[in-house]
Amino acid sequence: MNGVRHTSAVRDVAADVTIVKGACPHDCPDTCALEVHVRGGVALKVTGSAAHEPTAGVLCTKVARYTERTYHPNRLLHPLRRVGRKGEGRFERIGWDEAIGSIAERLSSIAARNPEGILPYSYAGTMGLVQGESMAQRFFHKLGASLLDRTICASAGSAGHQLTLGSRVGMDMELADEAKLIVFWGCNAITSSVHFWARAQAAKRRGATLVAIDPYRSLTAEKCHIHVAPLPGTDAALALGLMHVLIRDDLVDHDYIERHTQGYEELRDRAAEYDPARVAAICGIAAGEIESLARLYGTTRPSLIRANYGMQRARGGGMATRNIACLPALVGAFRDASGGILLSTSGNFNVDSAALSRPDLLGGRRPRTINMSTIGTALLDGRAPIEALIVYNSNPVAVAPDSARVARGFAREDLFTVVLEQFQTDTADYADFVLPATTQLEHVDVVKPYGHYYMVANNPAIAPLGEAKPNTEIFRLLSRAMGFSEPCFGDSDDEIAQAAVAGNWDFAAVRRKGWERIGPAKGTARFANGGFDTPSGKVEFVSAAAQSAGLSALPDYIAPLEDTRSELAARYPLAMISPPARNFLNSSFVNVESLRAAEGEPWLDVHPTDAAARGIADGGYVRVFNERGSLELRARITDRARPGVVVALSVWWKKLSRDGKNANELTNSDALTDVGRAPVFYDCLVEVAAL
Ligand code: SF4
Repeated sequence: MNGVRHTSAVRDVAADVTIVKGACPHDCPDTCALEVHVRGGVALKVTGSAAHEPTAGVLCTKVARYTERTYHPNRLLHPLRRVGRKGEGRFERIGWDEAIGSIAERLSSIAARNPEGILPYSYAGTMGLVQGESMAQRFFHKLGASLLDRTICASAGSAGHQLTLGSRVGMDMELADEAKLIVFWGCNAITSSVHFWARAQAAKRRGATLVAIDPYRSLTAEKCHIHVAPLPGTDAALALGLMHVLIRDDLVDHDYIERHTQGYEELRDRAAEYDPARVAAICGIAAGEIESLARLYGTTRPSLIRANYGMQRARGGGMATRNIACLPALVGAFRDASGGILLSTSGNFNVDSAALSRPDLLGGRRPRTINMSTIGTALLDGRAPIEALIVYNSNPVAVAPDSARVARGFAREDLFTVVLEQFQTDTADYADFVLPATTQLEHVDVVKPYGHYYMVANNPAIAPLGEAKPNTEIFRLLSRAMGFSEPCFGDSDDEIAQAAVAGNWDFAAVRRKGWERIGPAKGTARFANGGFDTPSGKVEFVSAAAQSAGLSALPDYIAPLEDTRSELAARYPLAMISPPARNFLNSSFVNVESLRAAEGEPWLDVHPTDAAARGIADGGYVRVFNERGSLELRARITDRARPGVVVALSVWWKKLSRDGKNANELTNSDALTDVGRAPVFYDCLVEVAAL
């Protein structure tokens, strides 16, 4: 194993304080470079690294309190075995040898007759390549366990974006301050990409116009010059309406279209069907908003769309991102280094995922694949039962849709559940064994960002607390206990980190420096001369791949499954969305008292008109319900929520809420997105009643 501190990553700043370079591991595009201030083996504070160009030494409020989280009195410090009922959260302390021995024995017995009965469940609790899908995946591949389709967050948007542009190589956020127009589309940057927001502020000071497209007047939307608030799930139609005006008024870049796109004539015909009046009716906005936004977009350079994943959490989510990605090609915005679109930069990095996860260990077996977004259904499906579930880097009982169903699945007495965790989450309460995992301050890693161009290395700053171990070490121990003899199960974390970035750089050198920029030289307009990663090498307005995926070959509008204009809306007339609360990151940080206090309690934001129609008082408790369930929230009457839309900022831990439930009690797992097999969290009609 690696030493506590990699001395070359440390510089003395005072006689007794050293600084260790690290990387934020959380599911955030910014991947900040961290500096951990350590004295006597104790982390005193965590600050940002000022020399790291994209993040410049600024941390969000969550990670600025990282020592509060690391040394939280409720950190899991020892292996635990369940003694109460599932979900009750009663455990006894046991030793590592006993825990590993018992788990290995149970998994061996299942694997001997039905390896597919074992399922890993993991996501982005850490974005680290080492503590994420490396040793863990090797372990499950060797077992022949079921594969997990990791779809819960970004797969629909990624798939749709790639249909148009071929890859996710967004523009360089370091240049955003030179844009003259920035459109935040489904993106509350103040909460979810604060360093991009800083550059947008700089652009604004230089005269740029900022626009937000979001059903909710988020912190970001309220600081933009223009806010357009379409109904959830209607973004694809809005993009088509913008195309309609751009083409009708000849605000397009014919030269760029001719050289670097495919299917313009067909797109022109399709966009002609989506005049502003029709789109306004679909989106619940004014036709004039579409006209004026299109004119602004078609006449301003450089123009930049900062898209995030908000708009892809509805049935037509893939199509929405596909349509939005067409816009910069229509107006030639890709010509400018500070223009174009930024959804993600993850396609910029050449990570050797096969070296990390070693699919060759499957040895020709082809296990079934289970979608993480429908885990409740999968756990309750008796035809080919999941017998054992190993959860790491995720908290599905809180974050997966249709939460009551998920909890019923986890409560199955015959299900053997192991949870690797830092805290006793809603999910850990259902475990048979809980294994204490280290935090980012206690282990080695390397983090691939999705909002900038720098890989960031993480050095351990302190020794593991209590008996906590890195995920990699836990899977090494399990591998050994199960007799796995392949040399890869003995790889150190340093060796895994190097394997992940092979061909890009030397991990040992970069961990001393802290980070490495990968990709084009600064100032390069990556797609000014085309070169897209689509089959044609062009922006594909017409896409054979879309057609193969069962979509229209052309941009289209797919109405939400639970449309406010449908019959269902007679019973459940309000569309509910559950975007991230500022002080939480998915379900991480909810148990940090100071951050939870800043959020207050689980709120439901309701427009004054909708509140008045239901006799709801500001600050009063309400019941929010649909056919999937109900929960109690505290109403906040505010015009941040547009009429017809209610907003439950998330993701609260269920057990830290008033009635032991969170917004996912109401979200849907019976349907998935058009492409990407992702959940439709924001495709969710509800009714609200005062309590
Ligand atoms: S969560 Fe995002 S903004 Fe906060 S420290 Fe991590 S990377 Fe930076």
